[in-house]
Amino acid sequence: MEEPLMWQIATIKAMRAETPTVKTFTLALPRWTPHRPGQHYDVRLSAPDGYQAQRSYSVASEPERSGEIDLTVERLEDGEVSTYIHDVLTPGDQIEVRGPIGGYFVWEASQGGPLLLIGGGSGVVPLMAMIRHRAASGSHIPTRLLYSSRTPEDVIYGEELARLNAAHDGLEVFHTFTRAQPPGWTGYARRIDGQMLAEVIRPFGHAPYVYICGPTLLVEAVADELVQIRIPPAQIRTERFGPTGGTS
Ligand SMILES: Cc1cc2nc3c(=O)[nH]c(=O)nc-3n(C[C@H](O)[C@H](O)[C@H](O)COP(=O)(O)OP(=O)(O)OC[C@H]3O[C@@H](n4cnc5c(N)ncnc54)[C@H](O)[C@@H]3O)c2cc1C
Repeated sequence: MEEPLMWQIATIKAMRAETPTVKTFTLALPRWTPHRPGQHYDVRLSAPDGYQAQRSYSVASEPERSGEIDLTVERLEDGEVSTYIHDVLTPGDQIEVRGPIGGYFVWEASQGGPLLLIGGGSGVVPLMAMIRHRAASGSHIPTRLLYSSRTPEDVIYGEELARLNAAHDGLEVFHTFTRAQPPGWTGYARRIDGQMLAEVIRPFGHAPYVYICGPTLLVEAVADELVQIRIPPAQIRTERFGPTGGTS
């Protein structure tokens, strides 16, 4: 248990833009250990004067990929750490990380399903680790992702999700666009609400394991609605990407 929590120096191996404000960074880890999908790493930045800032970032990749992890980071305009990660780091650079961390917001194929994943914005990141793990382990567990984005341009992992959805192996992806929709869009075009949840959850009855991740308000609203439609609270797990204030 001690070992994974030691700080280590990761090397940025690759970087790609997901959306205009979101990038994925592949980190090579000298002391890689397999994570459980849903877990996160802490990233620590240190200035020459000793000032340090630390934030959490979920692992986006599946544990079947050894030696490296993907972190997907949204750039917040006035953010201290996310702007540095976006604007300064390039492949070959090194960064201090520790992990994998967290034992509650995790799902592995061995746990079974059905599985309902609900994400808002960058909250899709740990859910994507679960989806990628499901695919990599050859699981066909019935899984639905309900993913809320402001506009189609803000969808993270859009092509990969479309491809996985088209494979018809038990994964279905539902998008809702709250501010702008693609031309001819006939799907959801509003914030996640009780009616939407009832529709998406219907084939699973009251049985699914539910994972909700995103901004605090979305997570709380969705969890409340699910309890109202009588999903047992013990089956609902939440992760809030609110401000961490983790400076030291
Ligand atoms: C367990 C966990 C996992 C996380 N995983 C990810 C991830 O995979 N990808 C990712 O991009 N972020 C993730 N986050 C959020 C991340 O840790 C930081 O909070 C975020 O990057 C902002 O840090 P910052 O230093 O740039 O902004 P700060 O300087 O801390 O904050 C700047 C401003 O933005 C506001 N703010 C802070 N965080 C958020 C937020 N998440 N959304 C909206 N406004 C915010 C603050 O109130 C403040 O006004 C995760 C958080 C937790 C707790």
